[in-house]
Amino acid sequence: MECEEKKFLQAVELLKQGEVVAFPTETVYGLGACIFYEEAVQKIFSIKKRPSDNPLIAHIGSLSDVAKLAIDIPDAFYTLSSAFWPGPLTIVLKKHPAVPALVSAGHPTMAIRMPDHPLALRLIQAVGEPLVAPSANLSGRPSPTQASDVKEDLAGRLPLVLDGGECSIGIESTVVSLIDPIPTLLRPGSISQAQLESVLKCPIRLASEKDPACSPGMKHRHYAPRARVQVVLYPERPSTSASYLISSEPLFSALVFNRRNFYSRLREADRLGAEEITIYCGPSVQQDAGLMNRILRSAGLL
Ligand code: AMP
Ligand code: MG
Repeated sequence: MECEEKKFLQAVELLKQGEVVAFPTETVYGLGACIFYEEAVQKIFSIKKRPSDNPLIAHIGSLSDVAKLAIDIPDAFYTLSSAFWPGPLTIVLKKHPAVPALVSAGHPTMAIRMPDHPLALRLIQAVGEPLVAPSANLSGRPSPTQASDVKEDLAGRLPLVLDGGECSIGIESTVVSLIDPIPTLLRPGSISQAQLESVLKCPIRLASEKDPACSPGMKHRHYAPRARVQVVLYPERPSTSASYLISSEPLFSALVFNRRNFYSRLREADRLGAEEITIYCGPSVQQDAGLMNRILRSAGLL
């Protein structure tokens, strides 16, 4: 415990000095840097090999941080943040001119989230500034949901990984934009469109997956293991000859997956040297827009 506390203090110092540190959130592990420290933000892109046109999400430790990051904040922001923060919802607003353009990949908008994880919140508060924090993996690979996943991808490329155990949610945040008068869902996640609409009391629009102006990062290949991925929707029952089988329900001898362990199942398959993964999706998963998005992306189908 003493050792963990020492690592926490080290993480705070490293971040203040412009270094990059990995830390747990409730969604996936993040690779953090101070948002106002351009050189540190640049390090994130090079460590992850992230394309520079893929914008970063600011992680905040208190609601008052929003004023440093965004301008012209609409009422809908306060409705959503009081319902879902801290939590797995990212809200896109108009960017404050003080935020480096590198963060938003040159866009005039800014994505912001308050994570629901005690270690993440404490870290951001101790540093005293918002942190940008994309997932702490190599770009394109399945996201990391435990500290060992971060080390698998990035060992030797960053000075410190804070270990907070397994992430409780396991897929990235829902992203909603409040730039236009009608809110737009840019990325599905564990908070559903229906939940957002019921809190906002108005319908929200779904961004087209192919619309780069709406959701700049969505065009890049994402969440993919090294193995080829095949997706099967029940009730079709294809052959079971694939080398690694995972299923959303008990089926054949397939390993069961859910939101929380989906990425670690993909990583396990890679570690075992599987050449092909077949993902069987039962009815409940087919209705989970957030998880289906990650499944289809892992197969290169989105
Ligand atoms: P992640 O890769 O999980 O860190 O999430 C980053 C994703 O959030 C990007 O790939 C975009 O889809 C979305 N995002 C981040 N910043 C913006 C922004 N300014 N405008 C629209 N979407 C954004
Ligand atoms: Mg990512």
